[in-house]
Formats: sequence, structure tokens, C-alpha cells
Amino acid sequence: MIHKKRRHEDNDYLEPIFGTKAEGQILPNYRLAQQPIEPRIAHQLVKDELLDEGSARQNLATFCQTFMEPEAIDLMANTLEKNAIDKSEYPQVTELENRCVNMIADLWHANDSEDYLGTSTIGSSEACMLAGMAMKFAWRNRVQKLGLDSTKKKPNLVISSGYQVCWEKFGVYWDVELREVPIEQAEMTLNLKSVMDYVDEYTIGIVGILGITYTGKYDDIEQLNNLVEQYNQTTDYKVFIHVDGASGGLFTPFVDPELIWDFRLNNVVSINTSGHKYGLVYPGVGWVIWRGKKYLPEELIFEVSYLGGTMPTMAINFSHSASHIIGQYYNFLRFGFEGYQAIHQKTRLVAKFLGKKLTTFGDFDVINDGNDLPVICYSLKKDKNIHWTLYDLSDRLRMKGWQVPTYPLPKNMDDVLVQRIVVREDFGMNLAHDFIKDLQSALNELNQAHILFHDDDGLQSYGFTH
Ligand SMILES: *Cc1c(COP(=O)(O)O)cnc(C)c1O
Repeated sequence: MIHKKRRHEDNDYLEPIFGTKAEGQILPNYRLAQQPIEPRIAHQLVKDELLDEGSARQNLATFCQTFMEPEAIDLMANTLEKNAIDKSEYPQVTELENRCVNMIADLWHANDSEDYLGTSTIGSSEACMLAGMAMKFAWRNRVQKLGLDSTKKKPNLVISSGYQVCWEKFGVYWDVELREVPIEQAEMTLNLKSVMDYVDEYTIGIVGILGITYTGKYDDIEQLNNLVEQYNQTTDYKVFIHVDGASGGLFTPFVDPELIWDFRLNNVVSINTSGHKYGLVYPGVGWVIWRGKKYLPEELIFEVSYLGGTMPTMAINFSHSASHIIGQYYNFLRFGFEGYQAIHQKTRLVAKFLGKKLTTFGDFDVINDGNDLPVICYSLKKDKNIHWTLYDLSDRLRMKGWQVPTYPLPKNMDDVLVQRIVVREDFGMNLAHDFIKDLQSALNELNQAHILFHDDDGLQSYGFTH
């Protein structure tokens, strides 16, 4: 037998991770450590840091995708180095992005003859910034031609108070007044009786939301379009609609094909969606499409070099990995229309099942039983003498790993505390049964045990509302 002295590094690798010096040593968190450590130990340490974050699949707060197929993950992991903005170096990525834009435009009934155009983004927030700026620039060009002093007053954007925070950012970042139409108890979506009262010559556009984040309900975009049509007949200062379809844009076309909310409506000029919500891609991709060049002023378009020539781009970010675009293309190719339809129909079925169960518990007023977006939103019944709050219920559920957020409704209805469950592709019927079992025991514990530490039920913000 040959005796061979092991080299120092090999020795290190034979040490069990939790026996190494580096693992046992306290490393600085907020400045670089002086010395490098082995990759396997660094890997373990980082993994350990993330240990107590809870399981994404049990996070019923988020609309964002928490599951992708191994084949998709493999493609994405192996394309991380591709820079989405580098159109000449990665022309094929550009081609896949263009295919996705065309597929989505087709789903939303964009018309070839109007020269629709669109782009990928990092998510709906970036998409909404781009769409909002296009509305602002297009508005300014329109009203200046009509002789209005566009600088005299701050331009405004009309939206229901159930908007997602990205619109508040849009208002602040680009100096546009957000005119909030308060949501009412009766419909809990954009109030069609009053929405047009908020519109004037300084209105850059109206946003309809296909799936209000708070409740999962759809704004009635078709009716809104009718109102806008009537309004536009009476004035030279036309207004148009942007649809924030962050959640619904890649859900509704598959499960509610008869619902008319998209480019079939004359006054809908742009639509955004999050590829990472019901587009079924991990967080990092969104889309925005304009029905025609007319609605995307040229000043906002920048040319980048592409295959010896140039191509138009519009984005706030510059460099980022193309892997999410590739993940989106994989899903489109892999599932096709019927695949998406089957997945989303099943998701709605699970949502309906949960909605029905929650109604039978008797403690809740169900605001959305999974009918629009596959979201269940409910408040505690007022008239019953219940000593715990929805915050307590969130805490009890958290003990079983479920993250279910509790929060007040937006302005005007903010005395109503709700809890919301977002059903996603990877929350199947079996998990739903497990969840109901855990919910039932949480309710029993709250109703029967003396485990409450407070006797006021004041409203506070808590958990996630995205
Ligand atoms: C989630 C959401 C957004 C923001 O989308 P991101 O993709 O997370 O940036 C905007 N609007 C609505 C209605 C949403 O639900």
C-alpha cells in the first residue's frame, strides 16, 4: 500500500462542516471578513442564515410564483449570465422576448393593424412606471396641441383607492397627482358612479385594475370603457385607460375568456402584467404592451444596437439577467393555451373550495370567495361575540407554517380588517385540505383556550399585502 501524505486543502475538505474553524468562528456581518472561507462552508452558512424564513409554498400572502418545473429551473440557472439588454450579443434572447410580447399581445387581442408594441420588465412596477410615463407624455403632447398650459397644474391620474403601492410611487417619482376614487362597501372595486367626476383636462389617464390586490376583485373595465367613450364624445381633452393586470393579465384570458377587459375595448391603450404572478415564473419578470405606437411617445424610446443595426427599447433598468425571460418563454412553449387554462382552472377550483369552507365556519363574512382572482378575502363577523382578532388567527396559523396576512382595507373602508388567502398553482386540493384542518384547530384553540394577551382590537398594519 502506498502511503500518500494528504495536502492541506484536502484535509480541510474531510473535516465535517460543523467541525471546521470557519463555521465555528463568528464572522462579521457588516464588513468584509479579512480571510476567505471555503465555498462549501460559505454555502452552508448562507443557507443557515435563511433557515427561519418559512416555506414559500405555505406563504398564502403572495401572488408571486413559488414553484417552477426542474426543466425550467435548469434553463434559468444556466442562462443567468445572459444580459437581457445586450441585444447584439444575445440576439436569440431578444427573439424569445419578442415572441413572448407577441403571444401576450395576442392573448389580449391587440390588433396588428395598429402596430402594437411592448417589452419585458422586471415586474409590474416597472411596467406601470413605463405605462404611466407614456400616458403622461402622450397627454402633454395632446393638450399642448389644444393650447392648454400643461405646466399650470399638476397632471393627475385617476385610480381606485384599492391601487397597489407602485402607483403611489409613480405619482411621487414622476410628479403626478394620484386621484383616488374611494372604494365602497357595495362593490369594493372602482366606483363607476363617481369615477368620471375625478377627470379633468389635466388627467393623463384612468387606471383600471384587473384584480385589486386587497380583495382579488376585478374592476369593471368594460363599463369604465363605456363611460370614457361617452366622456370623450363631449370634449377635446380625451382620456384613455391603462389596465393594471398584474395578477389578472395572465389569468383572466384563460379562465374568463368571455370577460371583455382588454384591447377589444377602444379606450384601453396599454396593459401590464407580472410574468411572476399567474404567468407562473419565479419573481423577476413583467410585461407591458401598448395597443399602438400612437400611445407610446417617441421621446421615451431609446435605440440600442442590434445585429448591425439598432432596435427600440424602453426600460428603466439597463443590465439584468435574461433568465426570467427564458423561464417565461419556457412556460409559454411548455403549457400552451390549454396548459395554462388547466392550471388556472384548477387553481380557481381550489380557491372556490376554500371560499365555501370558510363560509361554512360561520365566523367570517366572505368578501371574495375565489370568484375573480383565485383569492379568498374575509372579515370577522361583527355581530358575533368573538374575543380574538384576525391578527390572532394569523399568529395561530403561523405556528403550522402558514403565512396568512391580516390588514385593513384601503381608505374609506379602513375600519374593516380582512384576511386574505392567495391560491397559486402549487397550492393543490390536498394542501387545501391540510390547511382547512389547521385552520379548524386554530379556530378551536382561539375559541376554547385562554390564550389571548390583549383585550383591545385596534387596527394595525401587519404582514404582507403584495
Ligand atoms: C403585484 C401588483 C403590482 C406590482 O407588481 P410587481 O410585479 O410585484 O412589481 C402592481 N399592481 C397590482 C394590481 C399588483 O397586484
